Amino acid sequence: MKDYLVDAVILKSARTREADRVLTLFTRQVGKIRAMAHGVEKPASRKRGAVQPFSYSRLLLRRGRDIDSVSQGEGVEIFPALRQTLDGLARASYVAEMADAFTVEEDPNTGVFELLLATFNMLGRGCDPIAARAFDIKLMSLVGYRPGLECCTVCGAPGGERLWFVPGQGGVVCAECSPESGRGIEIKRGSLETLKALLRWDMGRIHQIRPDPRTGSEIAAVMKKFVEYQLEKCIKSARFLELVEKGFSS
Ligand SMILES: [Zn+2]
Repeated sequence: MKDYLVDAVILKSARTREADRVLTLFTRQVGKIRAMAHGVEKPASRKRGAVQPFSYSRLLLRRGRDIDSVSQGEGVEIFPALRQTLDGLARASYVAEMADAFTVEEDPNTGVFELLLATFNMLGRGCDPIAARAFDIKLMSLVGYRPGLECCTVCGAPGGERLWFVPGQGGVVCAECSPESGRGIEIKRGSLETLKALLRWDMGRIHQIRPDPRTGSEIAAVMKKFVEYQLEKCIKSARFLELVEKGFSS
């Protein structure tokens, strides 16, 4: 079969020579793939709207020897707010880079596809910092790095008021076990409960979780450490997102 149809979220769109773009797509049907969009920079291109970064589009792809190409495209939801506001752009870039970093090509994962759509939907309606953290923990779980939050990951004890999150241990560690478990971040019980809710609750309801600023920054620190540990590198757009969230004040 030469042509095939995909439902795709556009993670990345890189301009190449002339009027072409190389797209990184996360599709419902085949997972992450790269595809060439020929001539989309030309003003008259009908595919243009459907291949904008962070859009949800239905694309007809044609198989190629090295890379498949977009022969037709139709935007299903284009989430304009994710490109038109700094806030939206920062968050969507972060989400897209995370999804790209934590997946490999041609490994379908409907959960990741649905999460991307739900997150872009949420971010497109107005940005809530907690949505990015919910995305972090949900994505990590979907790709096999679900953190252990229910009890101490070393001894299994429920743990007291003081707990540490140790990325190398894959989750929380109690006060007894923490000295031997290496570097971790102390995490308050309230932050832990919030993390659990971010993991469990539907993305559409995430805005109902409103942590106080201290809990919010504790969660952000924990997730950042965990992501960096699993990836063994930083997410480039994380810094941009941090600056936008702080309002460029520091
Ligand atoms: Zn323990």
